[in-house]
Amino acid sequence: FMKQKIYENWVEIDLEAIRTNIRLIRKISGCPVIAVIKANAYGHGVLSVAQAAMDAGSNFFAVARFCEAMELRNAGFQNPILLFGRLSPKDAVQAAHEKIRAAIFCREQITELSEVLHTSGQKLLVHAKVDTGMGRLGIPSESGLELVQAIHDTPELEIEGLYSHFARADETEPATTNLQIERFDRLVDQLTKNDLRPKIVHTANSAGALFHPAACRYDMVRGGIAIYGLNPSSQTRLPAEFRPALSWKAQIISIKTLPSGSGISYGHKYVTKSDGQRIGVIPVGYADGFRRIAGNVVLAGGQRVPVLGNVCMDQCMIDLNPVPDVQPGDEVILIGTQGDESITADEVADRWGTINYEVTCGVSNRVKRMYF
Ligand code: PLP
Repeated sequence: FMKQKIYENWVEIDLEAIRTNIRLIRKISGCPVIAVIKANAYGHGVLSVAQAAMDAGSNFFAVARFCEAMELRNAGFQNPILLFGRLSPKDAVQAAHEKIRAAIFCREQITELSEVLHTSGQKLLVHAKVDTGMGRLGIPSESGLELVQAIHDTPELEIEGLYSHFARADETEPATTNLQIERFDRLVDQLTKNDLRPKIVHTANSAGALFHPAACRYDMVRGGIAIYGLNPSSQTRLPAEFRPALSWKAQIISIKTLPSGSGISYGHKYVTKSDGQRIGVIPVGYADGFRRIAGNVVLAGGQRVPVLGNVCMDQCMIDLNPVPDVQPGDEVILIGTQGDESITADEVADRWGTINYEVTCGVSNRVKRMYF
């Protein structure tokens, strides 16, 4: 894919993998998929992923911030977008005009948004958010009926949806998720009986959509991590047809041979142990989202080789002794496959003491995204 010498690091996004993953979530859950493309589509690049989602039949998006919704609108996406975060009253008129769906998770929002909308004559589409056990946003589902009723009674707001979010759907023990579904069901029943059921009811994240059929009885599911082909957690295993979309690569910018006892990088945390040590430099550092942590590993010449010494802001050094044929300009893999070897986002996440979500979100803006 990258034959030219560019001497950079970049990520490659396989858009066909994203389209396939979205279709799989729809097939397994039996529900249309809201494509969760917040945080620059989990680092994958929001505009290209948005288009891939549309191509795969997902024409409903979700983001966390108003600016993320506006980036999509400004790029020409006219389809429904749900905003998970709290819509500021200063953006409410524009949100209404742009048909951005706002999450309503407390009564104060109804007051503060209707106030600013009143004079504008705009109606804001909203999804009511209830807490069934996540302990984050949303009023307790037991009070969900009152919240939905209050939205109904507010002429500046038009309720389109109702949702909740799972805390532990990515764990093998289903008790918490079952309880959350039970609470959500109770509310949906109540709403139905009172003729207040919104048109679009949804509660499943990726793990819910793939591993909890009871969470797929509503109108849509919200697919995040699985649309990128990554596992919701180490306790879950995506069906084999899912493919990770992201690879992270770099080209070697320098190779030198150093004598025994040469210190490598800031602090000389690594010192060469013998004469004739081949040290490669790759243009990847912590400013790109590579973590400044001991024990990093990359692929070079089809083999796993260690990162030596401290990772710098823009560069790090790798051991090229095991791969004598590797030359400047050759490709190194941080996440992805080379020959018979692979490094997954999960492996990197383990090494960094975090989750794959944080790894892909952490690839910084200056790293070019390439699509194929
Ligand atoms: N729904 C909400 C409210 C979220 O905050 C998120 C992401 O964190 C998702 C759905 C998607 O979750 P996942 O990436 O685990 O599928």
